[in-house]
Amino acid sequence: MIDTHAHLSRRFCDIVTIDPALKVILAASNLEDSEENVILARQNPKQFWAAVGIHPQKTDPERKESTAEQINKLKVIIENNRDFIAAIGETGIDLSPAPPEEEDRTREEQEELFRAQIKLSLTYNLPLVVHSRKAMEETLSILGEYKNLKGVIHCYTGGKKRISKVLDLGENWFLGIDGNVTYEAGLAEVVAAIPKDRLILETDSPFLAPIPHRGETNRPEYVRFVYQKVADIWQLNSKETEELIDRNAQRLFAIDTPAR
Ligand SMILES: [Zn+2]
Repeated sequence: MIDTHAHLSRRFCDIVTIDPALKVILAASNLEDSEENVILARQNPKQFWAAVGIHPQKTDPERKESTAEQINKLKVIIENNRDFIAAIGETGIDLSPAPPEEEDRTREEQEELFRAQIKLSLTYNLPLVVHSRKAMEETLSILGEYKNLKGVIHCYTGGKKRISKVLDLGENWFLGIDGNVTYEAGLAEVVAAIPKDRLILETDSPFLAPIPHRGETNRPEYVRFVYQKVADIWQLNSKETEELIDRNAQRLFAIDTPAR
């Protein structure tokens, strides 16, 4: 089982041990997360793979470097740790208001950051973990300008009608679904409409805990409730479901062939 999106850096959680059978892609929202993810992946390379990236909204308002300076630092992190990194992200476009402890970036700044990270993904042959809120059309249109990209639209909220637009980005594009599928009937319908070879699952820990833990702090282990919900939707047994989903995640993140 693979949780393809969990925030485990210190500002999010104090989880120290996780079921060793589980593989986890560690999501990053800023440079600090990116550095911590790499440390966690180095400490436990069979369980953790780092994503490194900068979120469209400013999750670290105290950091004063320019966008270009931050991208340069990100590049250095990638070059020094390439074998422990499985993805760039989360990056994308978010046109909803930033939460109180964070800060909005202008639309232009967001796009500049997004495009710079798209270029890093091409340079280093790493998939993109794309965050898109209230901006699905804008996000897909930017991605559509590039060739040979691969990635996931994380915590997909584009409804049934935009699934085909994501699939049209290329055969290496996936939709990431989270624990809210266990309590949102509309999202279960979306999952039923996603081709089985283009779906991956995530927790977005510590957020979005699935039933029966709804309202609690989410943990990577709870991804099994998301797998089970998908098995129910697909009307397959849990083993078949796990094989199909894990094959997709392996295909995108190449975490079965570590270069370390
Ligand atoms: Zn996230």
